[in-house]
Amino acid sequence: RAKSLGKARHAVFDKEMHTRAVSLLQLENDLRRAVERQELQIYYQPIVSLRSNQITGFEALLRWNHPVHGIVSPLEFIPVAEETGLIIPIGYWVLHEACHQTHIWQEQFTASPLSININFSGKQFAQPDLIKQIDRILQETSLPGQSLKIEITESVLIENADLAANMLAQLKKLGIQVYIDDFGTGYSSLSYLHSFPIDALKIDRSFVKRMGRDNENPELVKTITRMAHNLNMNVVAEGIETSEQLTQIQALECEYGQGYFFSQPLHKEAATALIQQNVFV
Ligand code: C2E
Ligand code: MG
Ligand code: MG
Ligand code: MG
Repeated sequence: RAKSLGKARHAVFDKEMHTRAVSLLQLENDLRRAVERQELQIYYQPIVSLRSNQITGFEALLRWNHPVHGIVSPLEFIPVAEETGLIIPIGYWVLHEACHQTHIWQEQFTASPLSININFSGKQFAQPDLIKQIDRILQETSLPGQSLKIEITESVLIENADLAANMLAQLKKLGIQVYIDDFGTGYSSLSYLHSFPIDALKIDRSFVKRMGRDNENPELVKTITRMAHNLNMNVVAEGIETSEQLTQIQALECEYGQGYFFSQPLHKEAATALIQQNVFV
């Protein structure tokens, strides 16, 4: 198409491509230094028991506080980190920081030990020494394996089934739970998932978003929840933003909820203050 637009347009197109390539390279360079410059930060979003209305744990969500661009979303830089392999050191940094913080909370709030959910991308999950590294980080931070939950998407399991089955078996031995993130957006074959030791499904927020307005029928979420329960999996509803959505989700007997209705992802100090209150009524 560029050709038919003539030479002048073509030159502009090339220049745009060039600019984009340069800014991607720049981004990669900046990201490389972000860890040592302490520009990466972890935000914590509460996961709430829908029975007790209490926080049971947090999901760790990465943020990059770029010196020029300000806060950069993980949706922008995780793909770059994946492509360059930087996701590996960054991922272990997240794991270490978040496990350390969770252990601090467990010491501080002994009544009910909080857990931590960590996102793992396909490349991270395919690391041959993944289990060894996780085990090391658990030792270093004194966090029990039972307090760690790893979130992966269906595609990570399905595109690499043999490797994934082996990883999951080893994670189980450490007491670590595995959650399927963004459930409903991928293959969504519950019977297939059943062949893996999965502890919980996180229903993607696009489904929750449609609930609680326009009298939309929550049939799909209801079906997923019922099937998950039949397979002995718990269900987390992602992206709950309104009390109407919460009411509908609670009626479906989902175990856990997460979303702006309860809280945005928070700095660790703000998260600590929230635990101190620890009830959403
Ligand atoms: P995710 O794991 O599905 O995380 C949930 C996303 O939904 C987060 O976006 C969160 O801020 C957002 N969210 C939570 N509640 C609500 C709500 O009520 N409404 C709306 N509109 N959004 C809500 P975030 O923090 O931008 O993260 C985006 C994605 O980046 C994550 O999706 C995850 O896939 C990835 N990510 C984040 N941190 C890490 C990390 O440490 N490692 C890896 N590999 N991926 C990460
Ligand atoms: Mg997640
Ligand atoms: Mg998700
Ligand atoms: Mg997601």
